[in-house]
Amino acid sequence: MPQFSFEFFPPRSSRGRANLVATAERLSRLGPEFYSVTYGAGGSTRERTYEAVAALREAGINAIPHLSWGGVDADDVIALLNEYLKLGIDRIVALRGDVPSGAGSSHQFRYADALVRLIRARIDAPLYIEVAAYPEVHPDAPSASRDIEFLKRKIDAGANGCITQYFYNAEAYFHFRDRCAAAGIDVPIVPGVMPITNYDTLARFSAKAGVDIPRWLQRRLDEIGEHADALLDFSTEVVSILCQRLLTGGAPGLHFYTLNKAPPTEAIAERLVP
Ligand code: FAD
Repeated sequence: MPQFSFEFFPPRSSRGRANLVATAERLSRLGPEFYSVTYGAGGSTRERTYEAVAALREAGINAIPHLSWGGVDADDVIALLNEYLKLGIDRIVALRGDVPSGAGSSHQFRYADALVRLIRARIDAPLYIEVAAYPEVHPDAPSASRDIEFLKRKIDAGANGCITQYFYNAEAYFHFRDRCAAAGIDVPIVPGVMPITNYDTLARFSAKAGVDIPRWLQRRLDEIGEHADALLDFSTEVVSILCQRLLTGGAPGLHFYTLNKAPPTEAIAERLVP
């Protein structure tokens, strides 16, 4: 069985958290290694992310948090991480995070390598640190090569593995993985997988995140439009073929951006052959 992990965003209410636990329980038959919960830009979901991780863990689900500097200082980040350690987590996803909307150009970036360094300096507990990687190049990167250099800094700072931004070109992943290996990055690089459930939202988000939606895929999605069943069938087929190629080509696992919904991820995962 390929190694899966599932990403959620933190719900707004206790009812939403209960639904999320039910979704996670449903997905658990796919045997994921862990479930992760995102952290809003600028630390905007600090409490909600914690509450979601705590609720999932209470239900016996191996949930771990994403963590970024947000708008807080080093002591705050470490205090929050210590709260998570009390819940028994042994893994996190460490990020720079995105600029909170409204922060404008005054926002001071602290890159993710500094966060990894801080954690390694201040936390003794064994912790597997995942960082983000970008097969199609992060939109702020000065160049593709520099992006890989910056990724290497995160690994040298003490990260144990990478999860990638989603993409729909398998070649982008293989090319990136090989360039990372040539640059001395020897940790697992797990592809991020985004099921397609709403084309307009996906197109908007992808443009911002620097993710390419190939023309053939765009044109087919345009054609299918709002027909939910047809969209699910088509996108399941396209994304599961992508996943199968990635696994056959040596990807160490798959990290699904579930958008808190079980069926699209299940439909893809069930088609994959070990
Ligand atoms: P970094 O690794 O710090 O890199 C950011 C950019 O800066 C890159 O372009 C890099 O090339 C460049 N860079 C790095 N170091 C330097 C330097 N020293 N000088 C100049 N440039 C440099 N966002 C959220 O808000 N919440 C989440 O929970 C979340 N989860 C994510 C999970 C995954 C798996 C992925 C792939 C992304 C996630 N994101 C999340 C999005 C992420 O926060 C954004 O992509 C963000 O813009 C970059 O974060 P990073 O940790 O990759 O940053």
